[in-house]
Amino acid sequence: MIQAIDHIGIAVRDLEASITLYKTLFQIDTMHREQVVEFGVDIASFSLNGVRIELTAPLHADTPIGKFLDKRGEGIHHVAFRTDTIGEDLQRLANNDIRLINTEPQNGAHDMLVAFLHPSSTGGVLMELCSEKP
Ligand code: ZN
Repeated sequence: MIQAIDHIGIAVRDLEASITLYKTLFQIDTMHREQVVEFGVDIASFSLNGVRIELTAPLHADTPIGKFLDKRGEGIHHVAFRTDTIGEDLQRLANNDIRLINTEPQNGAHDMLVAFLHPSSTGGVLMELCSEKP
């Protein structure tokens, strides 16, 4: 069942500059840092009352996030929803003609399973489902 917003992904070009900006905006000292090579992303994140803000920069230009930045520029990239039934959710959504970017859960940041839904099926919002690993 999809339960809550887990995080908001924000596309940024310069991760170090964005970290400095967000530390000023939210008065935070440290951020979790992680690279997910499979998705071509370099991430810095922090939590606000259980909702993570994920600053996401491309590891190379030729990645989905790099292409997003070229096309749309910096800004909100995706909204991620936490679920405890990611496999069933993907099946249910596929059965309802929702276009999936990932038909199977993938290894994502924070040691979670993730799958993206195509914005053409979700009213223009890139949505991610994420789940703790069993
Ligand atoms: Zn995400």
